Amino acid sequence: MTTTNLKIIQLRLEKDHKRLTEQLEQLRASRPTENRREGSPFGKREEEATETAELENRMALEKRILDQLAGVKNALKKFEKGTYGLCESCGEPIDPARLEALPQATMCMSCKATQAKNAKGK
Ligand SMILES: [Zn+2]
Repeated sequence: MTTTNLKIIQLRLEKDHKRLTEQLEQLRASRPTENRREGSPFGKREEEATETAELENRMALEKRILDQLAGVKNALKKFEKGTYGLCESCGEPIDPARLEALPQATMCMSCKATQAKNAKGK
């Protein structure tokens, strides 16, 4: 992989990091359920169900953002250490095409496949 490609990927990761951090902040700053307390006394149960569903959605979304953010942070850390692009499992370089598609990839295709197979076996 050329240095230029690596630089592009690093910039992309930095951009992702910024975007995800902002998303997380926005999500945590907005509390839609608090402002909608004053509803009609009828359909209260429905309202509560909606709020629960909303809360679950928010939690799922927050978890998804946090997961992505962790992956991006991890990848950026590897840039600092100079180990970016190496498989965490076997230490071999990861296919550049894979990294371009998924910059926060931590394993090469074959290790990932092995891991997936092992996970399924359990
Ligand atoms: Zn590997």
